[in-house]
Amino acid sequence: MTNLDSYTLFRGHPSGAGICQPGQATSPLPCRNRILKALPSDALAQLQFSLEPVPLKRRQVLHERNVPLSHAYFIEDGAASLLARVEGQGFLEVGLLGCSDFVGLPLVLGTGRTPHRCIMQMEGSAFRITADDLHHAVGAIPALREILVGYMQATMIEMAQLAVCNSYHTLKQRLARCLLVIHDRMPGDKIPLTHQVLSRTLGVRRAGVTTAMGRMEEAGLLHRGRGQVMIADRAGIEAAACECYRTIRSEYQRFACTVEQDPQTGREHGHAAMFLAS
Ligand SMILES: [Zn+2]
Repeated sequence: MTNLDSYTLFRGHPSGAGICQPGQATSPLPCRNRILKALPSDALAQLQFSLEPVPLKRRQVLHERNVPLSHAYFIEDGAASLLARVEGQGFLEVGLLGCSDFVGLPLVLGTGRTPHRCIMQMEGSAFRITADDLHHAVGAIPALREILVGYMQATMIEMAQLAVCNSYHTLKQRLARCLLVIHDRMPGDKIPLTHQVLSRTLGVRRAGVTTAMGRMEEAGLLHRGRGQVMIADRAGIEAAACECYRTIRSEYQRFACTVEQDPQTGREHGHAAMFLAS
């Protein structure tokens, strides 16, 4: 059954939209987003009536800078870029988000807006929830609040660690760290990345990224394709990365309580709020 099929069933429930009451009968929500998957089944059952599965086109804006967010998104497929505006430079990537991620933290914080723009880099899908429904859900479902606060802390620590990384570590180490963090957010080994996006994310010239990527390809760590990077030797990339990757990963794994194996990739993922490959 597809997510859209499931949505039809949920919306067909006599209670309609809104937060389901504890104990109300529901079918389990088929989802890939690892935050939703990490929720206890009763918490997910409460939340699922407020979730609307939506397709996301490439270049679709999920939220505009300094404009109140109307919805939050639990990303199921595809990749979204978080962009910061820099005078004279246009928009620069400050994050790439995938099926491990939640778009809408300003709504959890109560500020409701951000100076960053979020757009889809690669088409996909998500479960979205209105700002009002999320506000009520965070108040009514303690497990959702706990997981989103934990996710928020992990993203804050990741941002701080990136400041350290950009000051002290080599381009090769930073590139490896960047590839691993993004790989952890994608369901497979193909990452939708261009050299231009990487150069903006790392804040270096595109030629430098091309040279560093070429050396990694020669070493058999990855393969470059049109608009994408194929991870070939994850262990080798981990060996090339700086300590920042391990620090970032451990923050996300803090919420993991069980480990499951992805049947397609063989990679293991923490099951409770987690997010990163182990
Ligand atoms: Zn580093």
